[in-house]
Amino acid sequence: MAFNLWHNALELLNNVAKKVNLDQVAHKRLSKCVRELTVSIPVKLDNGSFDVFTGYRVQHNTHRGPTKGGIRFHQDVTLDEVKALAMLMTWKCAVVGIPYGGAKGGVICDPSKMSIGEIERLARRYTSEIITMIGPERDIPAPDMNTNAQVMAWIMDTYSMDKGYVVPGVVTGKPVSIGGSQGREEATGRGVTYTALNTLKHFNMDIEDTSVVIQGYGNVGRATAELLYKEGCKIVGVGDVYGSIYNPHGLDIAKLGKHLTKTGTVAKYSDADSIENKDLLELKCDVLIPAALEGQIREDNAEAIKSKVIIEAANGPVTPGADNILRQKNICIVPDILANAGGVTVSYFEWVQGLQSYFWSKREVNLKLRDIMTKAFYDVLAISEKENVDMRMAAYMLAVGRVAEAIKIRGLYP
Ligand code: NAD
Repeated sequence: MAFNLWHNALELLNNVAKKVNLDQVAHKRLSKCVRELTVSIPVKLDNGSFDVFTGYRVQHNTHRGPTKGGIRFHQDVTLDEVKALAMLMTWKCAVVGIPYGGAKGGVICDPSKMSIGEIERLARRYTSEIITMIGPERDIPAPDMNTNAQVMAWIMDTYSMDKGYVVPGVVTGKPVSIGGSQGREEATGRGVTYTALNTLKHFNMDIEDTSVVIQGYGNVGRATAELLYKEGCKIVGVGDVYGSIYNPHGLDIAKLGKHLTKTGTVAKYSDADSIENKDLLELKCDVLIPAALEGQIREDNAEAIKSKVIIEAANGPVTPGADNILRQKNICIVPDILANAGGVTVSYFEWVQGLQSYFWSKREVNLKLRDIMTKAFYDVLAISEKENVDMRMAAYMLAVGRVAEAIKIRGLYP
């Protein structure tokens, strides 16, 4: 049977349910998404014709607050994928203790083949089709694959025009000029960095002696590399879709940044050896940070991984099969729902600032982010040690436990 992200998400929930002895009612309710909307989106194309796209918005759970989750524009979007990602958002928000349930949205389209005008018309009509579902007190979208601050601005404008007044809190990840938050751009990488530093501290690893390999050098990977480098870590290998580089003495990350700006890739940087992308993950290092795509560490390469720790900056970079192999090799994996929650946390800060129309400095944002990421790390670690489970199971136990508690306390309506 083909891999199905939703079935995978349900299996994970079932495993955790057994471990925490999850109440049957909560288990049944969490196995379904509370709302799933499929919409058709007619859009005028630049050549005068028009096309009808299919879009989705799914809310998985609303017991801990309004729902939150990104919108992706991609040709491979399916309803099952959107449902699974919505459930993942429920756990991510619960693990860092921010008052949201999970949601996700997607439109089946290939934005690389569309003009800016077509993308804007698509984003606006999609917003109008899902308008009854979203809102600052209902469901707050954010950017995801192939959507960005500009798309969020169009969504916010469309929603505000419909209401007749400005509603900045309807989306996060907006440009700062219309109510976005300082620090949102680098928030996920910063959260990954705090998680990595907490992990090093836990294992009594000296920052200056720590070698790091990062796969993916986009929004998350680059910010993580720059921040860990500033902290004193030795970044020995990085890679992107075009190629990978290795320098056992450590890369000069500032110089690498200039090369990236000039060439658009980290590949072929002069002060390092060029290596194959598949070899990057297998380099000897202390900390490996996959920050590119899902499913990068699988059963066929897990045995060759040589790091002591893996910090999952990407969503789902380690497959369940690889997870078992890495556990037997005693490699500590800090899971995605904990490690990359910095983005949604600063999105939460943006929403709070928007509701109050009172904006914080970058320093305030970063300090609050550090507090939340650090508390979540130690909450998960405590469960892992008490229950003798790995960090992934501990993070899920914490998250599912928090949502189950909210379900129990709120009871069943009517
Ligand atoms: P991005 O598009 O900015 O960067 C992705 C990077 O991965 C690029 O450098 C790209 O070249 C590289 N890459 C793509 N395919 C590759 C391959 N086959 N081999 C090696 N490198 C490859 O994306 P991003 O926003 O940095 O997101 C990265 C991951 O982090 C994704 O899994 C995303 O879901 C997850 N994530 C992102 C955020 C966020 O706020 N951006 C939040 C949570 C999770």
